[in-house]
Amino acid sequence: MQFPKLHVAHLPTPFEPLDRLSARLGGPRIWMKRDDCTGLATGGNKTRKLEYLMADALHREADTVITVGAVQSNHARQTAAFAARLGLKCLVYLETRLRAGDPNYNSNGNMLLDRLFGAEIAIVPAGADADALMAEADQRCREAGSTPYVIPTGGSTPVGALGYVQAAGELYRQVADLKLNVDEVVLATGSAGTQAGLLVGFRSRAFRAPVWGVSVGKAGDVLEAAVLKLALSTADLVGLGEDIGPDKVAVSSDYVGEGYGKPTAGAIEAVRLLAQTEGILLDPVYTGKAMAGLIDRIRGGHYRSGQNIVFWHTGGGAGLFAYVDDFAVPDGEGARATRLADARVPGAI
Ligand SMILES: *Cc1c(COP(=O)(O)O)cnc(C)c1O
Repeated sequence: MQFPKLHVAHLPTPFEPLDRLSARLGGPRIWMKRDDCTGLATGGNKTRKLEYLMADALHREADTVITVGAVQSNHARQTAAFAARLGLKCLVYLETRLRAGDPNYNSNGNMLLDRLFGAEIAIVPAGADADALMAEADQRCREAGSTPYVIPTGGSTPVGALGYVQAAGELYRQVADLKLNVDEVVLATGSAGTQAGLLVGFRSRAFRAPVWGVSVGKAGDVLEAAVLKLALSTADLVGLGEDIGPDKVAVSSDYVGEGYGKPTAGAIEAVRLLAQTEGILLDPVYTGKAMAGLIDRIRGGHYRSGQNIVFWHTGGGAGLFAYVDDFAVPDGEGARATRLADARVPGAI
């Protein structure tokens, strides 16, 4: 692929078996592709997309990037960090979709980091037309003599999806080195770029494992259409031809719960389980819901033992700090912590 790219991510990200989790769940062997370790500002999947998007921005001589997301957007945080690293100005529109009165949600987690990276933050009400706002900002910047570059929601354009076309090749090599037969790839899907890029990348390498997207907000059929559309335009961009059919695109909205950004019991359980069996952080908005989907499939007997399932960790750990109350320690655990503290001999450690 000959597309401009900036090399900022720490690649390849690790590919690891989660044997304590697999043993706990008693099903297939679960592996994890650690894109929480992409390295930019606590990592996550947007870093790979931004390597191409930001290169495109520099190619067009941009001095300002403009993007959009929810208040706790990981995409906005990674864009703000990337912009700081390149010395670009960054303007982010953040939609207050939920938890308007919650101080952690509105100033901790990704929001704290956006401010730290020096992004200009414009809070807009839910349902605002983000594309129109960004187009207006683009216009204003140009009139003021600067050169802006607009990045749509989640960086999910064909150029952004290139990051996951390339990531598919990275996983393909890691799997080949281990002589591993992968039976399914599971990931959280929001704005479709990650799943679309992976489908194109796997397709170009005849990687046969199905990809199962777990929606974090939108209806499954809406997201399937979005993934397919973006996969086709991405395939076009890389010159692959249009041979990705709807049969390759699967997204379930069974684990969304009440909506985007609203934790479910399954997501909270998944975050705790990964923390306590593997020492790995998921988040309640994206990866927790995707892992809840995988756990549900395992418990429902969907897989055979001996199969290998890859969970693609897309990051999001910074968002945990916005959801402090959702992880309030149940009485039993608190009592245990107190007993351990009491048992400590003063001065012994
Ligand atoms: C953005 C995001 C996703 C969704 O990726 P898309 O490419 O938008 O579908 C998943 N997980 C995390 C942590 C994210 O920030």
